[in-house]
Amino acid sequence: MMECAVVGKFFSPIFSSSRSVVVEKRKLPSLHKKIKFCSSKFKMKATQAETHLSQEAELQAEKRGSSTGVGVGELIWPSPSDGTPFWKKDFPSSGVSPEVPADVKDSDPKHIIHVTAEMAPIAKVGGLGDVVTGLARACLSRGHTVDIMLPFYECIQKQHIKDLTVITKYNSYHDGNWVPTNAYRGVVSGIPVIFIEPSNQFFKGQYVYGGSFNELEAYLFFSRACLEWMQVTSTQPDIIHVHEWQTGALPLLYWDIYHHLSLKPRIVLTIHNMEHYGECSKEQLSKSGLEGSVYASIDKAIDDRTIGHNPERLSLLKGGIVYSNAVVTVSPTYLKETLCTGWLASTLVRNRDKYFGILNGIDTTMWNPATDIFLPVKFNDQKPEGKKFCKYYVQRGLGLASEGTQDGNHVPDITYKAPLVVCITRLVPQKGLHLISHAIKRIEELGGQMVILGKASDAQVATEFECLAKLHNQGPCIRILLMFSEELSHLLYAAADMVLVPSIYEPCGLTQMIGMRYGAVPVVRKTGGLADTVFDMDDQSNHNRANGFVFEGIDEGSLICALDRAFTYYREKPDEWNGILKKVMEVDNSWNNTAGKYVELYNSKSVRL
Ligand code: ADP
Repeated sequence: MMECAVVGKFFSPIFSSSRSVVVEKRKLPSLHKKIKFCSSKFKMKATQAETHLSQEAELQAEKRGSSTGVGVGELIWPSPSDGTPFWKKDFPSSGVSPEVPADVKDSDPKHIIHVTAEMAPIAKVGGLGDVVTGLARACLSRGHTVDIMLPFYECIQKQHIKDLTVITKYNSYHDGNWVPTNAYRGVVSGIPVIFIEPSNQFFKGQYVYGGSFNELEAYLFFSRACLEWMQVTSTQPDIIHVHEWQTGALPLLYWDIYHHLSLKPRIVLTIHNMEHYGECSKEQLSKSGLEGSVYASIDKAIDDRTIGHNPERLSLLKGGIVYSNAVVTVSPTYLKETLCTGWLASTLVRNRDKYFGILNGIDTTMWNPATDIFLPVKFNDQKPEGKKFCKYYVQRGLGLASEGTQDGNHVPDITYKAPLVVCITRLVPQKGLHLISHAIKRIEELGGQMVILGKASDAQVATEFECLAKLHNQGPCIRILLMFSEELSHLLYAAADMVLVPSIYEPCGLTQMIGMRYGAVPVVRKTGGLADTVFDMDDQSNHNRANGFVFEGIDEGSLICALDRAFTYYREKPDEWNGILKKVMEVDNSWNNTAGKYVELYNSKSVRL
């Protein structure tokens, strides 16, 4: 089993005197009976009974609707000059009957605690947040008890948390001190969450990442504070599920310290992106109470590339891989890629027997065009008409050309043949920045429209895209919106004819799956999870699964070829295009499909032993 390092500061005299704790009665809501969205923005409901609209509501929606029968009669079409941006409204969740969620119950319910830096929608930067929320919800509905432990970031909007209460006041160790810490319990989007709030400056600031504190130390603190909370409250989950480098130290802390106290769970690590590996010095790791130098060996946490350098460095992600009972990455193809390339490959090969590839799902409660409160008109694969109105709504709101509007007539001309391509992404090199900017040019040449919704953390990338925005945003066909907006992303998926994902590498990718559910045909580069979820229309050998347009090269020519083919289908083969549209909306990329694989893993011998 796991080797233990020297226990370091854990046994210092300060420990016993400072481990003071006030534990308030822990309220466990009855988790799997009812799951309700509770924030004002996320009012959707997920119980089987509640997800069905009443017949009365449907009738009203039909009455309100125009001759299209999709409820657009009372819509006020937006414009770029509106005081409030058009995506800042929400609409009643009615108009199309939502699907019935799968009703699978597992025979051996477990208690799973996710320890994570992100959770959608309250602390979401990218796919990690979506995945944690979606997997947690799927496991709750299968009968498991699930909690999410999250730093109480200052930027979290408290109105999205239901029943927020302090449940524990305790101290957690960091850098020679025991830091007074509060644990809160609340419910977010129907899921129980425990928020960890240290009394120091960690997690302060306007954003999830990039505050003025030392991020590495903050997550080291958080990893330990979660275990400390379990220890002082005698919480004994079956599984602690950690994610990414931010919680990579938790397995080390667990086997080195907490397993010797009272905790008995097993640890599962999901790696969502191998690029971020949590570079850490021995001294920094020691601040968590571990003895950093003990982990500086090739079979533990040393960053292999730094061996023999002065100073050598550690990697929290590598430590997490070595010290977890099972390691998952987010698609089968990314699993293969990571076993062959990158400096972590040798560690993954050494740990191959506990390394698994499980494709992410999407949270179909959150991402459901039939109930989505951000959409002015709902739709689904059975009633797709509403999608055209969403496209028109977005075109009007962004001031994009939309034929049939010049005479003030608010009925969209749905025959307007400019396909709308969206790209919703973090603007980082991984996402194929040069291909994204080249797509703008090509789509304009082809007479299409493109909207990019993206946020850059790097100043140079931000400047480049700001220049592109200045160049294009006054014209009729391109919009580059440099921000993060959950609301607008929903509207864009609903409006889009195509979703572009030209990533250089992509562990799983959610935007192609969300796009499909909202009737946007994916145009993607063949890598990682994109290769597992999108299959080319012109690949005769795989016609049954064909659902999009795929290119392989990282050059502009490869991208152009795929875009050109997609535009040809859209414009010249309407029947086939409608066929693809129906097909992508019918694909089941939900967690119903893949959460069971995680449950199997939680139950497997490799985890339980
Ligand atoms: P990654 O995790 O690498 O960012 P994924 O495709 O797995 O990529 O997940 C991206 C998630 O973040 C999707 O839910 C997508 O809609 C969302 N997203 C990315 N950029 C933005 C943005 N600028 N505004 C709103 N949502 C965004």
